[in-house]
Amino acid sequence: MAEANKNDNGSFPPRKKITVVFVIGGPGSGKGTQCAKIVNQFGFTHLSAGDLLREEAKSDSEQGTMIKNIMHEGKLVPAEIIVKLLLKAMLESGNDKFLVDGFPRNEENRQAYERIINIEPEFVLFIDCPKKEMERRILNRNQGRDDDNINTIRSRFEVFQKSTLPVVQYYEKRGKLRRVDGAKPADVVFEDVKAIFAKAKAIKLAV
Ligand code: AMP
Repeated sequence: MAEANKNDNGSFPPRKKITVVFVIGGPGSGKGTQCAKIVNQFGFTHLSAGDLLREEAKSDSEQGTMIKNIMHEGKLVPAEIIVKLLLKAMLESGNDKFLVDGFPRNEENRQAYERIINIEPEFVLFIDCPKKEMERRILNRNQGRDDDNINTIRSRFEVFQKSTLPVVQYYEKRGKLRRVDGAKPADVVFEDVKAIFAKAKAIKLAV
């Protein structure tokens, strides 16, 4: 079993090189599908912000109920909560390569990450997909998700437009953004994704 990353003081061991890649895209852009393929080929640990929150929402606590309600409305959960869940998952994992999917979704996310985790992402993968196509996929995917209904989807698109796209622009300005056309079939998108990961020096193929 891999050794946890945790130090006695609850941080990463000082000289351990940790690689982080963020994956951003609208709801239904194919983030989860591409992340599963990346994990297979490049040996990352996949941390989906949405999955971490869905897990936390199952608890009967006040925080669990609050998360559940916010997700049902299609709004964003306070940044401290998601960043702390991310840090915990990273520390508990023995891996040193993390694919952080659905993050950062707004400026608040990005700043809380810099304050609490502060590991510069290697790059940010942006899966760019037209809204009509994302909407079609969500309404057809039938995953039993409470937030895959037309009202919540509208709110999720609005959040993406207003809050997430400015973060995309932030990374673009800093030369960190890698954009792929998410409207293509998943295997074709993955060819483009693979080329991006293969170019990154810090990332080796999983054996
Ligand atoms: P997803 O599974 O990525 O589609 O996310 C589902 C929902 O989880 C979103 O609509 C938000 O309510 C919440 N969520 C996911 N990621 C974040 C994040 N980085 N910050 C705040 N809320 C988030």
